[in-house]
Amino acid sequence: MSVKKGRCLCGEVTYEFSGPENWRGYCHCESCRRNTGAPVVAWFGVPYAAFRYTGKAPKVYVSSRGARRSFCPTCGTPMAFEHERYPSEIHLYACSLEDPSAYAPTFHVHYAEKVPWMEIADDLKRFPHRGS
Ligand SMILES: [Zn+2]
Ligand SMILES: [Zn+2]
Repeated sequence: MSVKKGRCLCGEVTYEFSGPENWRGYCHCESCRRNTGAPVVAWFGVPYAAFRYTGKAPKVYVSSRGARRSFCPTCGTPMAFEHERYPSEIHLYACSLEDPSAYAPTFHVHYAEKVPWMEIADDLKRFPHRGS
């Protein structure tokens, strides 16, 4: 099984996982936007059992009840999202991968919160809120 690796901007927080991801999707929610300063975030989910941090440990910010957002304590790069709703899975940023080229999202969630000036021309499924 191939191992995929990712890292923050400064390189102190690193991670790796093996095996296929569970899903890949864009999130347009306001929390993701504020957390990153970007209009949309490309995520993917992997099982905890296949994932590990390999460098400095990230810091954790509890952004809402049951939701943990991890980031590099040195450079501030957002690293992961975890929620008690998804106890066996960690969500990672496609663009923190060493090679994000094969991680194209396949759907949009929280599309109802999309910023109005962002035009999206793909024909992916658009969930107004959480994906089903
Ligand atoms: Zn860093
Ligand atoms: Zn979000």
